[in-house]
Amino acid sequence: MTAAPRHFHYVKNDLCAEDVTLQAVAEKYGTPLYVYSAAQIRDNYRAYDVALSRTLGRGAYTICYACKANSNQAVLELLRKEGAGADIVSAGEMQRALAAGIAPDKIIFSGVGKTAEDIDAALTAGVVHINIEAEAELDLIAAIAKKRRVTAQVAVRVNPNVDAGTHAKITTGKKENKFGIDIEAVPALFKRGRKLAYVEMNGVAVHIGSQLTSLTPFKRAYQRLAKLVVTLRQQGATLTRVDLGGGIGIAYRGDETPPDLHLYALMVRDVFAGLGVHLCLEPGRSIVGNAGVLLSRVVQIKKGTAKSFAIIDAGMNDLLRPALYDAYHGLSPVRKSSGRRLTYDVVGPVCESSDIFLSAEKLSPLSVGDLVVLRDAGAYGAVMSSAYNARPPAGEVLVAGKKHARIRHPQTVQDLIDQDIVPAWI
Ligand SMILES: *Cc1c(COP(=O)(O)O)cnc(C)c1O
Repeated sequence: MTAAPRHFHYVKNDLCAEDVTLQAVAEKYGTPLYVYSAAQIRDNYRAYDVALSRTLGRGAYTICYACKANSNQAVLELLRKEGAGADIVSAGEMQRALAAGIAPDKIIFSGVGKTAEDIDAALTAGVVHINIEAEAELDLIAAIAKKRRVTAQVAVRVNPNVDAGTHAKITTGKKENKFGIDIEAVPALFKRGRKLAYVEMNGVAVHIGSQLTSLTPFKRAYQRLAKLVVTLRQQGATLTRVDLGGGIGIAYRGDETPPDLHLYALMVRDVFAGLGVHLCLEPGRSIVGNAGVLLSRVVQIKKGTAKSFAIIDAGMNDLLRPALYDAYHGLSPVRKSSGRRLTYDVVGPVCESSDIFLSAEKLSPLSVGDLVVLRDAGAYGAVMSSAYNARPPAGEVLVAGKKHARIRHPQTVQDLIDQDIVPAWI
């Protein structure tokens, strides 16, 4: 199990992030606001590190945090200090990882649709390997590496055609998905790649999806990958690295049972034992997901006969996952109240019907002005926010023990206006 979010807890009736009440945080920084627990992020990272080091031994693996889950510089620096590398899917994320001091030799560049500029930036920085997701990418990398007179380390992201058994919009390892290269096509691609100058084909990678709650699809994909390693070596490839991707889920509803990390590590050892490859892992959600909440205030209660609407000051522009993936984020009051539970639809203020966080949810009575949190919002929350409806995205605060600090400048509507340019000829 990934660590339960023990750093958000009630002290008497007050919900706290570590040693700080969220009431105090809201008073100081306002709402809506993302609040992260540094200790929870560390615990989550260390849970991986402990499970892997015990099972595989130190030096056998690198944990490359998937920056896209939450790429705030403070989060990246915190993880860098824990020893994390980075998995990046754009040149922008690479710049963020480098700015946080993450060494290029711990940065993996994944992602479909890399441009020549992206590849040039990656080769200039000297990332440890580029995961190619299309055959044509190989020629592009070879041409740029030749021009730069550097040797590009290349891994092939394999589409193993395994159903991750997760939400369709976060499934990435089936034949019909845009990600990776069909497993059957990989041996021929390696043969071709090995003839290219300035390219070293040294790895294979998979990432079959996100929010997986069973080990079975991982095992199936990894077994296919291990078999592929043997096949590729038989044809003369020197494979040194296997990238296992991310995808381990977290308990959003509380009744999911995400894979135990020790069992995951044992399974990985069983599948790859004896192959003598360096393993890379790319967890994102399971590192930061339960380490963040979206703190918000109830702005209106609209009572109906069957149910009531609780309208809060956070919207889909702040947290898109429910609208995008039908994702569930539970709601907790910042101050526990008593009284018979009522049925609410919890919605944001954005002018879209999909701006709904919870529907027909039984909650303790809510009143205008109450503070609430949407839980487990640390991953794919702030990074996906937008300024839709001219709503500046929620700010971000990091708590560590009794300490707390803003980790992103709050934007104002004036900032949004100032970004626009009105040509003189209008
Ligand atoms: C998104 C992504 C990850 C992280 O996935 P999580 O489900 O957040 O662990 C890892 N690797 C790649 C290539 C990704 O695109």
